[in-house]
Amino acid sequence: MDPLHAALEGAEHRELGGARIDVVRAGTVRVGRVVYPPGFRWSTHMKPLVGTELCEHAHVGLLAQGRVQGAYADGCRFDFTAPRVVAIDPGHDAWVVGAEPAVLIQFDAEGDTCRRFGFPERHRH
Ligand SMILES: [Zn+2]
Repeated sequence: MDPLHAALEGAEHRELGGARIDVVRAGTVRVGRVVYPPGFRWSTHMKPLVGTELCEHAHVGLLAQGRVQGAYADGCRFDFTAPRVVAIDPGHDAWVVGAEPAVLIQFDAEGDTCRRFGFPERHRH
């Protein structure tokens, strides 16, 4: 099996809105792998489960497979194709483009990610 998709030793695994999420604690942060299936769209598949208008998480890491587009409330957009380091501010929608799943390897510090990693609390210009 493609190691990008294989079971990840030591990870806490869950599935949410069709996304497969594995998280491992490392020091005082967490390393995560999220596999988003083709057709996934945050506002369609996650919004009803999360309850916020947009995704309020910062994402920093490596898009290791696939293509992801997204948009912020102010109209700014992003379009990432693997391999690509990504830095996405809180306050966005995002969706998978194409027939391939998107695999994001990301780092977070739970509720403290923005402060620890130097991201704004919400995207704005
Ligand atoms: Zn903007």
